[in-house]
Amino acid sequence: MGAPFVEITHSEEFSASHRLHNARWTAAKNRRIYGICNNLHGHNYAVQVTVRGTLDSSSGMVMNLTDLMTAMRARLIDPVDHKSLDRDVPFLRGKVTTAENVVVAFWTELEPALRKFKTCRLHRIRLYESRNNFVDYLGPDPSI
Ligand SMILES: [Zn+2]
Repeated sequence: MGAPFVEITHSEEFSASHRLHNARWTAAKNRRIYGICNNLHGHNYAVQVTVRGTLDSSSGMVMNLTDLMTAMRARLIDPVDHKSLDRDVPFLRGKVTTAENVVVAFWTELEPALRKFKTCRLHRIRLYESRNNFVDYLGPDPSI
């Protein structure tokens, strides 16, 4: 039997402002599609990153959670916390800052920083925009 396969998750929170607005649409269409989210507003977001891999029998870990925390803060939280997602974040420039677009951009930012950890890989990013709404992204090829 092989080593146990385990998922570990680290959570972080950040606050940011945004408005949902597609510059290629008219003001009327933006209001119709996005409703009050077309107005400037803010959220207290939470992001949960799950890494999966084989359990190392010596360390008893899949990956050091401190390393995951450090990567998340450097790549995801520091660039967005207390910022305007629409104006201040280079990796979101030109995107409508829906939770879906933000979580996909987060994957693109974080995944390369985790490649050096050879026994595990990024499995899921969950982004809470509010207590009631969250989105999950399992990467460009979730079958592997
Ligand atoms: Zn919003």
